[in-house]
Amino acid sequence: MAVHLTILGSGSAGNCAYLETEETRVLVDAGFSGRQIRQRLASIGRTPESLHGILITHEHSDHIQGLATLCAKLPVPIYCNRLTKEAIENQLQARFDCRIFSTGATFEVGDLTVDTFSVPHDAYDPVGFLLRASGANIGFLTDLGHATRLVIERVRAANVLLLETNHDLKLLQEDTRRPWSIKQRILSRHGHLSNVAAADVAEQIVSSELRHLYLGHLSRDCNRPELAHQIVTERLQKLGAAHVRVESTSQDVPCPTLSL
Ligand SMILES: [Zn+2]
Ligand SMILES: [Zn+2]
Repeated sequence: MAVHLTILGSGSAGNCAYLETEETRVLVDAGFSGRQIRQRLASIGRTPESLHGILITHEHSDHIQGLATLCAKLPVPIYCNRLTKEAIENQLQARFDCRIFSTGATFEVGDLTVDTFSVPHDAYDPVGFLLRASGANIGFLTDLGHATRLVIERVRAANVLLLETNHDLKLLQEDTRRPWSIKQRILSRHGHLSNVAAADVAEQIVSSELRHLYLGHLSRDCNRPELAHQIVTERLQKLGAAHVRVESTSQDVPCPTLSL
């Protein structure tokens, strides 16, 4: 057991995951308050002080809102691309110690290899990640309007994938709180993946290598965990992929740690 993954929380209002290898401890996104992140790490017996880095997908607040507090007291580097760094620093009105990568590049943090790839989303230069260590491949694929061929190719090798199931099309259309312009944004090719679009992604990448699928970044108003779960599971069953474990994530509580 060399790699341990804990989704500390995922949803439209906050995203943060913790990955630990033999030598390396990182967060992927920091989209809760610094205090929340500290508390959630404490619930698995970890602290922000032991982190080697924070990988950032893009600058939307549900991915970065804890950075200012976490990094104010800690010398932990942030890994992001240049446009994301500029956007974060503008937004949070602070300077950060960033290790800049070019989108599409692969780099290392200790014994962890990080593949980065571009995703279509309405941010400056949003990315997805495939993290590789000790023979385990863990993909992070949230915040994308549609899955390009590049995206599919990059996450095909994943054994574990955090996949966005943002909204249910019917619930989004029926929602009365959101103006039409916001709905259009969510539904656009640079918005978010619906349950059905996520099932399409699952169908395209499913293989004997894929073992665990986390459903993430759910909208509180326009989706329900059981609905997302049902749509993706039914699709996998139709394909005879009963070996893939499908697990819902929550905005409010961490998932049990997955050891690989
Ligand atoms: Zn987001
Ligand atoms: Zn976003």
